[in-house]
Amino acid sequence: MISESQASALRRLPSVDTVLSDPAVRDVTIQLDRAIITQLVRESVDHVRSRILGDHLPEDPMTAVREHLQMLAERVVSPRLHEVINGTGVIVHTNLGRAPVSRSAAEAMSLAASRYTPLELQIDSGKRGGRMSEISEMLRLLTGADASLVVNNNAAAVMLALSELCAGKEVILSRSQAVEIGGGFRIPDVLAQSGATLIEVGTTNKTYVRDYEREISDATGALLTVHWSNFRIIGFTAQPDQSELAELADRHHIPLIEDLGSGSLLDTAPYGLPHEPTVTESIRDGVDVVCFSGDKLLGGPQAGIISGRKDLIERITAHPLARAMRADKTALAGIAETLRHYVKGEALEQVPVWQMMSASSAYLRLRCEDWIYQLSEPEGVSIVETSSTIGGGSLPDEVIPSWGLAIDTPHPDKLARALRTGTPSIMPHIDHDRLIIDARTVLPGQDSALVDGLTRAIAHAGN
Ligand SMILES: *Cc1c(COP(=O)(O)O)cnc(C)c1O
Repeated sequence: MISESQASALRRLPSVDTVLSDPAVRDVTIQLDRAIITQLVRESVDHVRSRILGDHLPEDPMTAVREHLQMLAERVVSPRLHEVINGTGVIVHTNLGRAPVSRSAAEAMSLAASRYTPLELQIDSGKRGGRMSEISEMLRLLTGADASLVVNNNAAAVMLALSELCAGKEVILSRSQAVEIGGGFRIPDVLAQSGATLIEVGTTNKTYVRDYEREISDATGALLTVHWSNFRIIGFTAQPDQSELAELADRHHIPLIEDLGSGSLLDTAPYGLPHEPTVTESIRDGVDVVCFSGDKLLGGPQAGIISGRKDLIERITAHPLARAMRADKTALAGIAETLRHYVKGEALEQVPVWQMMSASSAYLRLRCEDWIYQLSEPEGVSIVETSSTIGGGSLPDEVIPSWGLAIDTPHPDKLARALRTGTPSIMPHIDHDRLIIDARTVLPGQDSALVDGLTRAIAHAGN
């Protein structure tokens, strides 16, 4: 039964037509298509009706409809993927879209999206050309790999390589590498999906070449190694070198496939980090097919790259799934432009991920001093030493010393929310009760927006 007050509220609930002819409503929906407005008005009226039926009585049903409609209208016209200033210190931040690309990569992507480009055309002959030729050539120069193929992401790269090379066969993998990476990418499941049978060898902590060798038979499709991107095993451990496994695979005429994960082209060691294996090392060690991400330490757009022996890459390219998983023209343009930075020897200056990783402590501190100087209400704001991380499931536990602004506040969650929901949106790092903006991951060109955003959020949160 509905109560008297519910019935009264329902009687005052406006009709869709009444809402549509309300001038205040016209103002908030001015940017929208007519049919969409009607739909949103209907949803708003329905929303308020069900609130009333649930005994949440609005003071004025018309106002409640108007407010809900305004919220819906704002939500559909404002892009969800707006700019965020990353103050977390996590360089490859999965929730913030991993690697931001360089300015010229972004321009190349925008051009490829908005104009015609010779994606599958050889300009000089006018004949059909391969969409991978430029990227393949640059990767050959950079890593020594004969050929390469770019697909949607590294998960697709691994799935595709295994589907072509190992379906119906056995794949030998160290027990320590039957791992889960990120949400839901589990090597045993990927192997099963590709139609291969997993043969686990060795133990969790120690695997030797002879463990692989013992399992090799006519049924073997490949040896597989998977990089421990997001965890470590320390202490009493053993794993053969890639070159030893490559030699073993070669002797038995089977390929060695590697899921390298972040796929760095440069050494991370000069930045106080442990050495992250590079694509070049894998190829040099004799890995036949190496799969890696385009948007982790490579610093490009989302992509998965398969590099290695020409005959194998050609086979993989011809697999029906290759067509389903191939990278689109904007990703290809972004990857090509990112690789060009490495070819030109300017990756440290131009690729944002490497710019951030290599930024000096002195420079980061100076930036913080500059921000403090510009803040109009610097009480409670101080410069602190902090630590950045690589993120994106690379180099777990490893930190790079950094500098940031700490904001003392009695309500860190409230201020963090004000920062996130402000314009620009600022994502801080919360360390106990302190909010920290790590200078390392604030991109060049975001400084004044950061200062403005901080000033507003501090005032708004009533610090
Ligand atoms: C990140 C990662 C993947 C998944 O790559 P995506 O590009 O996210 O699809 C697979 N394997 C390893 C070892 C990784 O580090």
